[in-house]
Amino acid sequence: MSEKDLYKVLGVSKSSSPDEIKKAYRKLAIKYHPDKNPDNPEKAAEQFKEITNAYEILSDPKKRQQYDQFGSASFQHGGFGGGAGPGAEGFGDIFESVFKDFFGGGAGRRASAGPQRGNDLMYQLELDLEQVVRGTTVDIQVRVPVSCQTCYGKGTQSGAAPSTCTYCQGTGQIRMQQGFFSIQQPCHYCQGKGTVIKDPCKTCHGAGRVEKEQKLSVNIPAGVTTGDRLRLSGKGEAGAQGGPAGDLYVEIHIRPHPIFQREGSNLYVEVPIPFTVAALGGNVDVPSLEGPLSLKIPAGTQTNKVFKLGQKGIPQNQRHAAGDLMCRVVIETPVHLTNDQKALLEKFAEITKDSIHHPVEKKWWDRIKGFFEKIKKP
Ligand SMILES: [Zn+2]
Ligand SMILES: [Zn+2]
Repeated sequence: MSEKDLYKVLGVSKSSSPDEIKKAYRKLAIKYHPDKNPDNPEKAAEQFKEITNAYEILSDPKKRQQYDQFGSASFQHGGFGGGAGPGAEGFGDIFESVFKDFFGGGAGRRASAGPQRGNDLMYQLELDLEQVVRGTTVDIQVRVPVSCQTCYGKGTQSGAAPSTCTYCQGTGQIRMQQGFFSIQQPCHYCQGKGTVIKDPCKTCHGAGRVEKEQKLSVNIPAGVTTGDRLRLSGKGEAGAQGGPAGDLYVEIHIRPHPIFQREGSNLYVEVPIPFTVAALGGNVDVPSLEGPLSLKIPAGTQTNKVFKLGQKGIPQNQRHAAGDLMCRVVIETPVHLTNDQKALLEKFAEITKDSIHHPVEKKWWDRIKGFFEKIKKP
């Protein structure tokens, strides 16, 4: 998503009134409306989308406040409601509401005359950490409206193009005289399409599109993380009237891993160690993506201490440098002691009673003593 200043997009200032914003949008919407730019409709549609998106946020007091406070980032997920991308419907509503009073009664938007780009679609893909470490290819099955193969998207049984609506002469609009005003309205005979289908295709019933199960191969680049979106260009909904297909977005979700927690390119792992190793020092094995690694535990290690194994996290890829493996050690208390072991530990406790150094326990007792003294004072 673009990080453009929405006020600049509409050419207004941050202190502009709602009325000024509406006026500015109207002016731009007329300028950029795809119907008014037959030479470069795609660029115009892109600009139209951009100003409409800006207007959608700045015309809503709540959204405008949110934008002023947090910027565009807070709207990043807004565009993909219900699996469909920023399709025509949402924009149409806004466009209509602004132009209603302008053209008089919903005539601002020519419903669907001519070719239209299909909607963008979203697919949620769950992956395991192992799959994204080095990148992989995943096959997915999606049900997508595709161009009807019986009529080649035309919607007619004969496969010929739909005939021009005789009522509106193919403009999709009819002009009506109302008092002094001449107003335009979508043609009710062809629903503003400008064409009519007299022999609807039996496969798609005139829609030109049918839902089809499709198998797609998705290339997963190394190092992707939850929330990343991969775009499969032209794999979304088929366009209407021969328009281009939308895109299919694949949103990545990484399943929780039983051993590693991931943070960016770093991996976190919990390592249980015996209390003797913690006290005396030694080496323990820790898991990594490359297999077991040896971790040196210094004498006198406390529980929860984190040791870093540099560059042993997510390996380097096109997106980022190699991450680290962060090992948090947890000292484990032994259970099911034999009588010999118990005797040894008891002996150990006896001879170390007055001399052993427990730094954490000592600090803790110092704090508690301070607390007792405080509450003794009147
Ligand atoms: Zn018509
Ligand atoms: Zn068909």
